[in-house]
Amino acid sequence: MEDKRIRNLNSFFRHVFGRKVYKVGLWGGFSCPNRDGTLSSEGCAFCNPLSSHPKSFEEGKSITQQLTDGCRYITWRFNVNSFFPYFQDYTTTYGDPAELDALYSEALSYPGVVGLSLCTRPDCLPEPILGYLEDLSRRTFLWVEVGVQTSDDRILRDMNRCHASLDTVNSFNALHARKIFSAAHMIIGYPGSSRETVLADAAFIRETGADGVKLQNLHVVKNTSIEKQFAAGEFELMEMDEYIDMVILFLEHTEPGVVILRLTGEAPDKLTVAPQWSLHKMTILNRIHEEMKLMDTWQGKSLGFSKSAVNLPLENLRTHWRAD
Ligand code: SF4
Repeated sequence: MEDKRIRNLNSFFRHVFGRKVYKVGLWGGFSCPNRDGTLSSEGCAFCNPLSSHPKSFEEGKSITQQLTDGCRYITWRFNVNSFFPYFQDYTTTYGDPAELDALYSEALSYPGVVGLSLCTRPDCLPEPILGYLEDLSRRTFLWVEVGVQTSDDRILRDMNRCHASLDTVNSFNALHARKIFSAAHMIIGYPGSSRETVLADAAFIRETGADGVKLQNLHVVKNTSIEKQFAAGEFELMEMDEYIDMVILFLEHTEPGVVILRLTGEAPDKLTVAPQWSLHKMTILNRIHEEMKLMDTWQGKSLGFSKSAVNLPLENLRTHWRAD
């Protein structure tokens, strides 16, 4: 029997849809207010948008063509016919609702698509967009992933995020008031972070009530401002062992109803400056699991939850589930 210590995405999809579902990364040609000059032209210190290109990306491909290629591969490789498109470039709620709807609707009309995932910034959910997303969440299983990164305003400033942690709180409140399923993207290991900031971040995410969490290590990518700081020796990156300790600490302080979408992040080899260990995703995942087993720990343990709570149906736990 599987030794489950976290609520992972596969088990969540099986619970919701009764079968295996795979995410398919899409490129919608979006922009970002932190790049187009609205907030800044520099972008976040760690961001190179090319590093989040979906694997099948080719300039000029329509959403349908991208889905055809992505879904065909998934069916061939994993024998799966249910798909969850994920718009992952820049800020995918940054635009006119009618234009966004054209892209999202094209994705939703593709055979086998069972839901939709969008990623955005905390300050890119104005009222008209929220109203539109609420409508969309009645048409499909909508999952909005918010780039939180950290709860520490000092680190947010260093990252040049151009928003504060209060924007994050407001964004989750607004999504949940509309029963929109949410997730938080977090970076572990940014300069200035520590065991204390990881604990503070986990507490912050509990307060937001985020339905899912995506964790990733800081990796230095080419053509970013953090690459220059790294080259100048201004900070050191975490070793893999230290990252694994921080991830486990975060998980132990995360409620068992929260879906863990990812435990590590990587960029394409040719764009990665450091750390090289970030390129070995399976090694990191196996090490996290082995370490949790050795420590006999699990998601939510430090909050007093039993190990079996990661298997409880979501209806028994706190989530923003749209039943209507
Ligand atoms: S990380 Fe997101 S918000 Fe920051 S510059 Fe890149 S696309 Fe924009």
